[in-house]
Amino acid sequence: MAKHSYKNETITVFFDPDVCIHAGACVKGLPTVFDLDKKPWINVDGAPTERIIEQIKQCPSGALSYKLSSET
Ligand code: SF4
Repeated sequence: MAKHSYKNETITVFFDPDVCIHAGACVKGLPTVFDLDKKPWINVDGAPTERIIEQIKQCPSGALSYKLSSET
């Protein structure tokens, strides 16, 4: 399956469901952004960009990644 992407004007978050090991670090660590009960389940407006990046770096599988709009 292709990677999914979720974006606002500052950041794009990518999620690869084939890589996710469902460890749950993201939903436990930052539930205002990563919430499996919501659609879409990633809300990039749910926390400051720096906090989202910090959480993405803790994803153990590498399923989550990001790109800043300023890097394009
Ligand atoms: S932290 Fe990464 S591996 Fe764990 S559930 Fe979230 S996306 Fe999947």
